[in-house]
Amino acid sequence: MTMGGRKLHMLAIGLGLAAGLAGGQALAAPAATPEARTAARFDSLVHDRAQLRLFLRAMPKGGDLHNHLWGAPYAEDFLAMAADDGLCVTVPRPALAEGPCDMAGKVPAKGLAQRDPDLYARTIDALSMRNFTPGGDGAAASGHDQFFSTFDRFAAAAARNNIGPMLAATREMAAGDHVLYVESSANPEALHAFGLVGQDLGWTDDFAAALAVLQPRIPAMVAQARAEMDAAEAQADRRQGCAKPAKAGPCQVAVRYQAFVQRAQPPGFVFAQMALAFALVEADPRFVGVNIVNPEDNPTALADYSLHMRMFQFLAARHPTVKLALHAGELAPGLTPPRDLSFHIREAVEIAGARRIGHGVDIASEAGASALLARMARDHVAVEINLTSNDVILGVKGSDHPLALYRQAGVPVVLSTDDEGVSRIDMTGEYLRAATEQGLRYGDLKAMARDSLEYSFLPGASLRGSVCAGREAPSPACASFLAGSPKAQVQWRLEQDFAAFERGVGGER
Ligand SMILES: [Zn+2]
Repeated sequence: MTMGGRKLHMLAIGLGLAAGLAGGQALAAPAATPEARTAARFDSLVHDRAQLRLFLRAMPKGGDLHNHLWGAPYAEDFLAMAADDGLCVTVPRPALAEGPCDMAGKVPAKGLAQRDPDLYARTIDALSMRNFTPGGDGAAASGHDQFFSTFDRFAAAAARNNIGPMLAATREMAAGDHVLYVESSANPEALHAFGLVGQDLGWTDDFAAALAVLQPRIPAMVAQARAEMDAAEAQADRRQGCAKPAKAGPCQVAVRYQAFVQRAQPPGFVFAQMALAFALVEADPRFVGVNIVNPEDNPTALADYSLHMRMFQFLAARHPTVKLALHAGELAPGLTPPRDLSFHIREAVEIAGARRIGHGVDIASEAGASALLARMARDHVAVEINLTSNDVILGVKGSDHPLALYRQAGVPVVLSTDDEGVSRIDMTGEYLRAATEQGLRYGDLKAMARDSLEYSFLPGASLRGSVCAGREAPSPACASFLAGSPKAQVQWRLEQDFAAFERGVGGER
């Protein structure tokens, strides 16, 4: 009786299991996997921006490869730094300024929100793109001019050894957007100081002679830059309580830096900064690449563009392991004469040897654009796409934007934020734009999130094609592979996050 009962029970379980499997397969046929069901869910939301934002905020996004440490904090963060540092806000044109604040035209930043909410609000507008209307009351004539002039208005706070608070703000936003990794353009003060040294030395176009003069001073400057970053990271960790083991959120965001050169400065300044940037990347694993910043249409930047590319070529030959991600083609028809639109991306790739291009907006105006696109596809030169930044600075969006052109050519593309504080955006909003303005679907966005780690400058072999590929739990061989590759470790985290996200969104029925 007992035996018979158990047999019946087991038979029932067997039948139930079989029926369940058959039923499950029949139901799941149109969208068999959590990934496919997640993609179907995305498609059902595509005309509901609020629902889509909710979906995209939770979606794992990999890395933000084009992010400026100075441009990431919101104006409110800079006002808080200004209050902590005893800085002032100028009136009637709001900007942050050094003290004393008790004189005409300057009021203390400390307590401003409570004392004068109207001035506080106008200061936020002046330090960002918030409420910007071209040519409005006291406003800049264009989004381009307003955007770049904000940097001067918060410079007093940003330049005051505030890398720690800026880093904390960057990590906080990345964590909120489910971004695992940030490559931030961040210069310790030593980079600026060394630029001034180079400027004072004068310039003769003799790269080797210039380097010979600078070289003896570089090791001490590298040490100074590293010490500054040690202190900044410790400050950010204290702020965010990262000493506690396994503290989730901002402390789990991996940040690496790109040292940068300022292209609007004279050649002696640019060369010295560049020489130190290469040396710093070689010496400190937290620095993974070199970049070039300032408005690309600045008169000095335009006049010296090819000179700067040759400087990169010269130094890259002496530091072959240092990778370059260069702002190039952040221009649009009408902003400059056509000749300036015709060669910047090509020289960044062919002469400087850039592994990634920042923006690349004017690709369709480049001479020999088709051949250049083919080369970038062949050599896996990725383009960092900043949709909001390109809209507010250049007025380029929708089908004027070359994102589809790059994708059709097979050039790798990734979404990034550029200056999320200045633009008053977040990474989720960039994914939302890619979906609603560029027509990208879930699979496209997922591929870009994966590429944002594949084309990161993190060292180590890729997870792609490795012993770990396609695994849900690491085998011993996979575990030892991961231990040797910082890049694969972050890629592994992304795959785990995608699996969890898709189980949550597409796995429940
Ligand atoms: Zn940028």
